[in-house]
Formats: sequence, C-alpha cells, structure tokens
Amino acid sequence: MLDKPLVHETETFLNTFGKALEDGKIDAATDMFLDDCYWRDLIAFTWNIKTVEGKDQVRDMLEKQLASTGPSNWRIAEGEIPTKEGDVVTAWIQFDTERARCFGLIRLKGGKIWTLLTTMAELKGHEEPKGFNRPLGAKHGASKHRTSWKEERERELADLGYKTQPYCLIIGGGQGGIALGARLRQLGVPTIIVEKNDRPGDSWRNRYKSLCLHDPVWYDHLPYIKFPENWPIFSPKDKIGDWLEMYTKVMELNYWTRTVAKSATYDEATKEWTVVVDRDGEEVVLKPKQLVMATGMSGKANVPKFPGMDTFKGDQHHSSRHPGPDQYRGKKAVVVGSNNSAHDICAALWENDVDVTMVQRSSTHIVRSDTLMDVGLGALYSEEAVRSGVTTEKADLIFASLPYRILHEFQIPAYAEMKKRDADFYEGLEKAGFWLDWGDDESGLFLKYLRRGSGYYIDIGASQLIIDGEIKLKRGQVTEIVEDGVILDDGTKLEADVIVYATGYGSMNGWVADLMGQDMADRVGKVWGLGSDTTKDPGPWEGEQRNMWKPTQQEALWFHGGNLHQSRHYSQYLALQLKARMEGLPTPVYGLQQVHHLS
Ligand SMILES: Cc1cc2nc3c(=O)[nH]c(=O)nc-3n(C[C@H](O)[C@H](O)[C@H](O)COP(=O)(O)OP(=O)(O)OC[C@H]3O[C@@H](n4cnc5c(N)ncnc54)[C@H](O)[C@@H]3O)c2cc1C
Repeated sequence: MLDKPLVHETETFLNTFGKALEDGKIDAATDMFLDDCYWRDLIAFTWNIKTVEGKDQVRDMLEKQLASTGPSNWRIAEGEIPTKEGDVVTAWIQFDTERARCFGLIRLKGGKIWTLLTTMAELKGHEEPKGFNRPLGAKHGASKHRTSWKEERERELADLGYKTQPYCLIIGGGQGGIALGARLRQLGVPTIIVEKNDRPGDSWRNRYKSLCLHDPVWYDHLPYIKFPENWPIFSPKDKIGDWLEMYTKVMELNYWTRTVAKSATYDEATKEWTVVVDRDGEEVVLKPKQLVMATGMSGKANVPKFPGMDTFKGDQHHSSRHPGPDQYRGKKAVVVGSNNSAHDICAALWENDVDVTMVQRSSTHIVRSDTLMDVGLGALYSEEAVRSGVTTEKADLIFASLPYRILHEFQIPAYAEMKKRDADFYEGLEKAGFWLDWGDDESGLFLKYLRRGSGYYIDIGASQLIIDGEIKLKRGQVTEIVEDGVILDDGTKLEADVIVYATGYGSMNGWVADLMGQDMADRVGKVWGLGSDTTKDPGPWEGEQRNMWKPTQQEALWFHGGNLHQSRHYSQYLALQLKARMEGLPTPVYGLQQVHHLS
C-alpha cells in the first residue's frame, strides 16, 4: 500500500539534500549523513569506483568533486516507492549531473543517510541507440551504389586494426572481454578483442568436461541479451561456450580469434599503446589509446613446485589442463587441493571408476548449492525474485549498495543459518576428517570470493562422496613427488597414476608482467581483494576491489573480469569511463588507489 507520508518525507529529504549540493553547501549536505555512513559511488561523482566512509570522507570527496560533478534534480526514481523496514527507509533515486543521468539507492536511518549508492547510467548526448532510439536498420529510399549491412560489416572487420585503429583493445575474449566489448559497441567505441583460443567460449569449453556453472542462471546473464526462460539453472560449460559464441556474433564484436597479445608498451607523449599481437601466424601492431586486461582471474595457473616432480612416471597437470576422467578408468589418482576444481575433478574421476584421493592442505569453506541458492542468493537472484519485480538490473544495484566494509555483517547471519540448516552434513564432513572453515570472520563464501577469490567449494555432490569415503581424503602437505606417487609430511605415500594440481590461480598482474614487464606490474600492483586483512587479503583497507574496473596507477590501463555477475554489472561503468575519455570529457578521478602490495 502506498505510504503517502513516507513518500513525502523521502521527497522532502531528497529536495533538501539536492538543494544543499546544488548550492555548494557542503557542510549542510554532509550533516545529512549519519556519523556511521557509507557512500558508494560508481563513477557518478568520483570517476572512480569508490566508497567513502564516515562524514569526514564524505566532506572531502564533496570538496574535491562537487563543483565538477554539478548534481541536480534529486528525486525518487520513476515508478518507485520508498519502503520502511524497522527504522530504515530505502528508496530508489534518480538525479542528473552535468554530464550524466544517474541512478541510485539510498537508506535513511532516523532521517539521515546511512548508505548511499550513486551510479552513472548514461552520458548525456552519448546515449546508447536502444529502445525509442534503436537504429532503423533498413535504409529507406534509394541511392546509387549503396552498401548493405553485410558489406559494411565486412569492411569494418577488414579495416579495423589495419587501415584504422581501435580506440580500445581488450586482451582476452572470455565472458569479461565479450561483455565489455558488447557495451563498448553500443557506445560506439571502436574496439578489438584479441583471444588466443580458436573460438569465443573456448575458455569454458577447454575446462574439465564435468564442469557446470556454480552460480544459477539469474546471476549469470550477459548485458543486453538475457538467457531464455528454458535455460538450465546451472549451465553446462559447453553450453555457456556456445552462448558466448552466439553472443559475440550477434552483438557484432570485432573479435580476433587465434590471436595472442605478445607485448605492450605505452607512450606517455602520444598517449598511445603499441601492442604486438600474433594473429594466427601474422604479426600485427595495434595502436589503441586504451588497453583493457580481461585475461581472467582464473587464468594464470598456480603450478606448485615439489621436489621430484620430474621423476613422476604417470600424468601430472594443473586442474586447468585436466582432460577429464575417461583415460584414467581403473587407475589411481591423487588430487592436490580441496577447493571447487578439486571437488569437481574428484567427483568426475570417482564416477568413472578411478580410485581417487584428495589431499587437503588447508581449511576449506563448503556450502551446499541448494542452501546457498535459498538463503544466500534467493532474495535477489531467483525465479521468485524476478516474479516479484527484482529485475537483474535492480538485483545488481541492491547487491552493489551494501558497502564492503559492513557486508560481512549481512553475511554472517546468513551463513550461521546455513550452518544450522545443514548441521548433519557438516558433522559428516568433519567425521570424515575434512577441515572446514567459514572465512576468517565466519562471513562465508561471497566475502572469501571478494577478498581472495579462493578457498571454497559450492557443494553439488562431491562432499557426500567424501563423507561416505568414496573419495578418499588425506590431510597434510606434499613434501615430495616420487616416480609412482605423492609423499606427504607425515610420511604417508599415496600411489598415483595421475596427479592433478588443483592449486588455484595467480593475481592478474602476473599477466601484466608477461606483457609489459615487471616494472609495469609493480606500478599497478596487486589485482583483486579488498584489503580486509584476512587470509590472502592483506591490509590496509581499500574499500573496493583492487584495480578492478577503475583507473589504475598506469594511465589508460584497465582490468576487467570476475564472475558473470560482476562482468555484466561492472562492464557498464568501465565502458562509460572509456567512452567519456574517447569523447574528451573531463574525468577528474577522486581517490586513485595507491599500491600497497605487488602481487
Ligand atoms: C573450475 C571453475 C569454475 C568456475 N565456475 C564459475 C561459475 O559458476 N560462475 C562464474 O561466474 N564464474 C565461475 N568461475 C570463474 C571463471 O573463471 C570466471 O567467471 C570466468 O572465466 C572469468 O571470465 P574472464 O573473461 O574474466 O576470464 P577467462 O574466461 O579466463 O578468459 C580470459 C581469456 O583471456 C585469454 N588470454 C589470456 N592471455 C591472453 C593473451 N596474451 N592474448 C590473447 N588472449 C589471452 C584466454 O585465452 C581466455 O580466453 C569458475 C572458474 C573455474 C576455474
């Protein structure tokens, strides 16, 4: 039911806040925040992905950015009504800046701002040609020698990178490069995506054959084209591969397959990159103004070095190179590691009659997929959520509106609920000797993902095999590989015909070192993580993920990637940042992140 006083109260608040900002009254605007407040800005005010915390930081940001931002017209978003739960009023909001139309979400407590999310939706004068403004397609009328859509597309494909240069080059054509490429295409930013594989989607196809997405379909949509209603909840990897290939084609991306980026250097004088690529045997030199690394968080394999590896007589490989179980039927396998890949691979080996042992070297967070869907994601990403009006776009913004500093406070009770609900399951795992954890502060999976991108398994069946002893489990450190097996630190020998190192992936700036040298990698520093001072995510607190989707210490060098949800949502802000620069708009960056860690 429409709560008219609440609407009025919220409108009055937004009018007063908006007026204070328009009049440049920074103290008055700052006073409308609680002491304990969070303002997360996705490029609307800061041309950065930045959270300011507490009134002093709010004031500082406004002092530096308010004049150039020129915000106005603060209002409740069209068609939305504020809601109240306990003492928190939540409202979708819209406002304009001098350059852009913006959207956001505000939470008020006791009449003051507790959390504020501000996001840029579109640049004025550079709107995407869609909806009422979609292209005509056909060319009505008649003119001599006119070209068809196909001819124009073929011309573009032939010329770009040779006769004309792309404004932006994306290295890596997985889902990240593809989603960003689609947004840049809509914004009219000439872009090439280079991908070393044979076909779009191969980064999924090339993984072990039993792999299905661990996240449900509602979380996984790409920009512009949603999965159809009959798409499975957990997409098999080859099906996602085919979807990405289809998407690349219909979104008309300039996607160079079998193309490896070999080196990149930046000329500070001409503000231009020189990128040497090998395009199916031909060396091509590209000169983009902006360079995006979309080479994958789970791309640079962490291959351990154990003494004696060269003496092993069987097969040994990193999980990213594991061919699947078929050729190992009836043999003995040791899988080193106990996270997602290790579990998936062990289960597939067991299904194919391989005698398999998992070596657990450190504790792992396990959460059952059904429970995670229900308790963790259901309110935002589920059929029920869609049917109750939580579109993917809204879900993304609600998710983004919870400041990272306090996200764990929302997550801890959810994971406590999961622990309670699946108590028998966890007891079974512990009895089997499995070493469990819930994150350093019991905040569970999503924060582990944001902080370190590892250390968990979303259970889709392998855990029961461990509980039942079907997948054997051994806890300990590998000290040596011998010709027919693995030696652990307690002296145990595990015989093996195949060893799989499911030992994870390295930081994305390892790719920078490969392409641009160690100096450049050190200049931009570690990629990913929040600075939470928890395991594998050293402090100081950053407030946002290091280097992702935002300006870095190297002008014109950007990082993009993450899971499908992040690729979809954050590609919007990265694309707008690149478009603004192409159009020569002023983009004063507030709070450029400092480098505290090299990798
Ligand atoms: C086992 C496993 C399961 C996962 N399950 C999920 C899931 O359920 N949901 C989810 O969202 N995510 C999942 N992930 C994470 C997944 O890796 C990422 O979501 C996804 O692959 C990231 O896409 P990306 O485009 O950033 O990187 P990638 O898919 O890794 O793509 C990077 C691309 O860059 C290319 N490349 C690298 N270097 C060069 C170069 N020099 N020149 C040209 N091309 C280059 C590579 O060939 C690759 O295709 C999973 C990961 C693993 C390992």
